[in-house]
Amino acid sequence: MKKNIILMGPPASGKGTVAKKLQSTFHLSHISTGDMFRDAKSAGTELGLLAATYMDRGDLVPDEVTIGVVKERFSKGDLGDGFLLDGFPRTIDQAEALKGFTDGTPLAVDAVINLDCDEEELVRRISGRRVCRNCGAPYHIETMKPKVEGVCDICGGELYQRADDNEEALRVRLSHYYESTQPLLEYYDKLGLLKNFESEVGADVLYEEIVKFLSE
Ligand code: AMP
Repeated sequence: MKKNIILMGPPASGKGTVAKKLQSTFHLSHISTGDMFRDAKSAGTELGLLAATYMDRGDLVPDEVTIGVVKERFSKGDLGDGFLLDGFPRTIDQAEALKGFTDGTPLAVDAVINLDCDEEELVRRISGRRVCRNCGAPYHIETMKPKVEGVCDICGGELYQRADDNEEALRVRLSHYYESTQPLLEYYDKLGLLKNFESEVGADVLYEEIVKFLSE
């Protein structure tokens, strides 16, 4: 079973949804740098205020800050049976740093799952996306409605629209994705770790395909 996993794909390609499902079934830690920055922003910490200046306009938080946050999370050691990295790495420097502190250890990456998605579909998903303020679970106002409007099915937390889930910030986020993050697909392909999935087949089918791959 592959258990140290990187989830890649453009914003709203379904990384968070897949991570939440895998996390509860396989006892893997979901490490989302976006969630970590949003939590720090809500807590009003120095890190959160710094990250927000980049995040809210769709820009990437500087590598040294992001790498430091992930390294610290890994050094805590309580990762369950493995990890699901969601939103990290996003640059070659971040990938090299991750390789540096995991290769040759039990935390070495086993697989990189890339979720492909059409750009029109990403815009549709982003504009209707709502997220739980408490546990980060993702919803959509049309296609993934909660049982009670505005309330998280899992923890009862309040659902909100992210500050960067608007068309202007999305355009910036996509340009960073194509420039800085997409080259990582070739990087991981060369390392023999990359596996591509089509995200538009629907959440349930996608999840089944991923579980099959991880179990091979
Ligand atoms: P996400 O929730 O993954 O869409 O991330 C939201 C925002 O957090 C991004 O648009 C960036 O501003 C910041 N962020 C998250 N992960 C990273 C990363 N690996 N490198 C730089 N910035 C990041």
